[in-house]
Amino acid sequence: MKERCPGYLCERALHERAGGFADYSKDKAYRYISLTCGGCCGRATHRKLTNLVRTIQKKEGIGKDKIVVQLSSCMTNDNYHAPPCPHLAYIKTLLERIGLDVREGTVISQKSEQRRQAGTYHRHG
Ligand code: SF4
Repeated sequence: MKERCPGYLCERALHERAGGFADYSKDKAYRYISLTCGGCCGRATHRKLTNLVRTIQKKEGIGKDKIVVQLSSCMTNDNYHAPPCPHLAYIKTLLERIGLDVREGTVISQKSEQRRQAGTYHRHG
């Protein structure tokens, strides 16, 4: 996906506090980094985020309790492009081991949501 997707719609969802970001405070400013999993099986998420946790602590004194990993909708939901990531559980286990807050979903397409409700796309368990 990242070979084509610039991540704009996910960033806009955060900007508008919509979709998977609806619970984020509108009164707070958030910083945003868009990472790829590095390719199947997603193991690079552990390397990248361990590096981030270490570096952001060292450079700015920001603890991992201030970091949220928001897994993109194209990973977590059945959608036009593909079913959910087959390595989702594995990736979530990696993130749990780092001790990061993990949430699911970013931009929610109205059309995809209609198709999920109609049963065309399946929600993962
Ligand atoms: S299927 Fe999952 S692990 Fe594989 S590249 Fe896509 S997001 Fe990464």
